[in-house]
Amino acid sequence: MNGNKTFTMIKPEAVAKGYTGKIIDQFIVGGFKIIAMKYVQLSLTQAQEFYGIHKGKPFFDELTQYMSSGPIISIALEKDNAVNDFRALIGSTDPNEANEGTIRKRFAESKSKNAVHGSDSDENALIEINFHFSSKEIIS
Ligand code: UDP
Ligand code: MG
Repeated sequence: MNGNKTFTMIKPEAVAKGYTGKIIDQFIVGGFKIIAMKYVQLSLTQAQEFYGIHKGKPFFDELTQYMSSGPIISIALEKDNAVNDFRALIGSTDPNEANEGTIRKRFAESKSKNAVHGSDSDENALIEINFHFSSKEIIS
């Protein structure tokens, strides 16, 4: 059975462009319930730790510098089949390949500045939620 939690961040360029409200609205219309949320700026070290799975890849330095370059919104979400349904809602990593109507198609500016993060597995969703939130901050 698939899990019912996933984790997302509205990335710095989407926050800076004023898309926060429209993106959160699409999460809610898509059937996701917010169970924790905060407005925060990651340090470079925190971004490197969060994206540790991508260490050594050619885009790692650009990604972690970018993700620590300005404020983000970090959100824990709940829905049946959360990880898969959320990845369908946001669309492909590269907005040029994302389906019409998906969040990345609507709001991303490039493959790196692609508006939102989405967890890739139930296991990573829980790790990512715990990275950003203490148990007291999660209201489920
Ligand atoms: N990324 C990038 N270039 C690439 C692949 C990924 O800049 O060729 C960035 C992009 O911001 C992406 C993040 O690294 O969202 C994590 O990559 P991943 O493959 O996990 O994509 P996602 O799960 O976010 O769709
Ligand atoms: Mg990923």
